Amino acid sequence: MKKVIVIGAGFSGLSTATQLADLGYEVEILEKNEQAGGRARVFEKDGFVFDMGPSWYWMPDIFEMYFSKFGKKPSDYYHLVRLDPSYSVILNQEEILDLPANFNELKNLFESIEKGSSAKLEEFLKQAAYKYEVGIGKFVWKPSLKIAEFLSLKLLVDAIQIDVFQSFYTHIRKFFKSEKLLKLMEFPILFLGAISQNTPALYSLMNYAEIKLGTWYPMGGMHKIVEGMVQLAKEKGVKISLNQEVLGFEYDDKKIIGVRTNKGIFIADAVVASADYHHVEQILEPNYRNYTEEYWDKRVMAPSSLLFYLGIDKKLPRLKHHNLFFDRDFGIHSDEIYTHPKWPSDPLFYVSAPSKTDPSVAPATSENLFLLIPVAPGLQDIEEEREKYYDQLIDRLEQFCGTSIKDHVVFKRSYAHKDFIKDYHAFKGNAYGLANTLKQTAILKPSLKNKKLKNLYYTGQLTVPGPGVPPSLISGLVVAQQLHSEFKS
Ligand SMILES: Cc1cc2nc3c(=O)[nH]c(=O)nc-3n(C[C@H](O)[C@H](O)[C@H](O)COP(=O)(O)OP(=O)(O)OC[C@H]3O[C@@H](n4cnc5c(N)ncnc54)[C@H](O)[C@@H]3O)c2cc1C
Repeated sequence: MKKVIVIGAGFSGLSTATQLADLGYEVEILEKNEQAGGRARVFEKDGFVFDMGPSWYWMPDIFEMYFSKFGKKPSDYYHLVRLDPSYSVILNQEEILDLPANFNELKNLFESIEKGSSAKLEEFLKQAAYKYEVGIGKFVWKPSLKIAEFLSLKLLVDAIQIDVFQSFYTHIRKFFKSEKLLKLMEFPILFLGAISQNTPALYSLMNYAEIKLGTWYPMGGMHKIVEGMVQLAKEKGVKISLNQEVLGFEYDDKKIIGVRTNKGIFIADAVVASADYHHVEQILEPNYRNYTEEYWDKRVMAPSSLLFYLGIDKKLPRLKHHNLFFDRDFGIHSDEIYTHPKWPSDPLFYVSAPSKTDPSVAPATSENLFLLIPVAPGLQDIEEEREKYYDQLIDRLEQFCGTSIKDHVVFKRSYAHKDFIKDYHAFKGNAYGLANTLKQTAILKPSLKNKKLKNLYYTGQLTVPGPGVPPSLISGLVVAQQLHSEFKS
């Protein structure tokens, strides 16, 4: 039995490990932290259960596909509920758009904002459905090692039809004029880590996912997905070793033969690194690295985040489960993330209040809040800066909810660049990996294979297909198949 060491127990690491074990490999995951889940870890304090990272469960079909590969269903591990409204967009104190889960009600909402837009929405989503089918059905499954994978005529025709070469910004303006609707439709693109001008129109597949497939929530929290995946990995025979920080490798004849951690050396026939790509390159001998520092400095990283986990000892009116405070100028904020990186002057922010849906994540009559400001990676992260934003956000929340909040905060923890670096070795303290821009798509992403060592592979949000929980699951499966195709002969 060949032994594969997987570095990191996030979604991509768990996915690749489970697939490889199912294909007959002996698999061990080495994870530096005391808990599996990576950016989707969880912590508990005084009856509050905080998901540390992802909070949006989109593309339920990908999770179905993942578990069904191993003869299972998500419902074998966790209970999903569909959120309605899917989310709430706060345009200003008075104007709040609650996006209904029901498509006819959503069309009515669109029509009330812009006459004729419900028919446009239908047309837009028909095209987006095709993009989803081709993008998720075909493109994301390519290991993207060589251009030849994309050279079939059918795929080329598909690439043109799914608008790989047009920006989302241009595409969406062919359908809608209202600034409000444009805001709504451009929101899912933010998940890809870039502004709509730099994102291929292909990614309107995200709108299809959001509107047609719905926004879901696993009761107990997003970490229930991790618990399910860990259980499944163990059922398949994967060994998960925690508190094992990989520090370097042993080499022989252009191969890795051992993985060195803070606790010892682990013999390996192959290695899949799911830790942040840039970090893995740093712990390789310099002559075995795929890319130079200059290459990494030129990458467009997805944003980092300033996060606050708050326990509030009372219920807050007006908030829904997902709340997007789009009540400030998005142009200025996005310029401060992407073009002239600095701490934002007057940020948009997001509030997740899972206690609106799930009584198990907060004590009775309390609220569990997760506040997120997207910020540029690589900023100097200092305590005073965090506190300044905390005060701003609490003021704005107090105004919106019409009640005092600050005096009711019974638990508070902040999290930003320094924590992403300490906990995950995140390059420039990024939260969501590499942005999905046109110049960073498919073969233009960091390769999932090391070009100098025969048995080192990479997976996760810095390689194909990109950031987010569903893509990380897919990334793990794609690399496992690639490794198997090279090792089975
Ligand atoms: C705040 C936040 C909100 C998000 N919201 C959403 C959302 O709502 N929906 C969504 O789909 N996605 C969301 N994402 C993105 C999603 O969480 C990530 O894309 C996904 O979790 C990445 O998984 P991964 O396996 O690639 O990486 P990671 O989760 O980072 O896993 C890598 C693992 O490697 C380990 N590691 C690092 N270095 C070493 C080492 N030297 N030795 C051993 N182990 C090591 C790390 O500890 C980590 O466990 C969010 C992310 C963040 C941070």
